[in-house]
Parts: sequence; C-alpha cells; structure tokens
Amino acid sequence: MSTTTLVVDGSEENQRTCSKYCGACPTYKRNILGRYQPAALFCSHGVSAAPSKIKTMGCFCPACELFTKHRLVIGYFCAKR
Ligand code: SF4
Ligand code: SF4
Repeated sequence: MSTTTLVVDGSEENQRTCSKYCGACPTYKRNILGRYQPAALFCSHGVSAAPSKIKTMGCFCPACELFTKHRLVIGYFCAKR
C-alpha cells in the first residue's frame, strides 16, 4: 500500500496501533467508547455509535503514527458528525 493513501485500513496491526492512543484517551474513557461499535479505528470506520452525544475531553490522534502517515487532520474521529 502506498504511504500517501488517505484511507486507513482496518488491519489488526492498525487496531493495535489505534488502541495505544484511542484506548488511553480521556474522551474514550469518559464516554466508555469500548462499549459501542466501532470500538477503535474511528478514522477508518467512522464515528462511534454511542447513543448520547460524545463529551470531547481531548484527542490523542495527533500523536498516532497512522494520523501522520495518512495525513489526517484535527482528530476526534469518534465524535464528528
Ligand atoms: S488516528 Fe486516531 S482513530 Fe485513527 S488509528 Fe490513530 S488513534 Fe485511532
Ligand atoms: S478519535 Fe481521538 S477523541 Fe476519539 S477516542 Fe480516539 S483519540 Fe480519543
């Protein structure tokens, strides 16, 4: 795969990378996002299906290597509508 692609695939390796950041992020913990699908890789799979509006409390995506590699911007992929 080209390193310039904007699409983040849902590979297990990417899941593990994501869990280091999303899994540790205060927004993820505060909203218990692990309970809902998708539970990770929001930049690929889209927003969380959490039923109530997500309280954003910081986003660790800018530190993630996939964020840099795929030239993503801003973050909060779990919450954006
Ligand atoms: S950019 Fe954010 S949502 Fe995407 S893999 Fe990294 S931590 Fe997860
Ligand atoms: S997308 Fe950003 S705000 Fe949402 S859980 Fe992942 S690191 Fe946290």
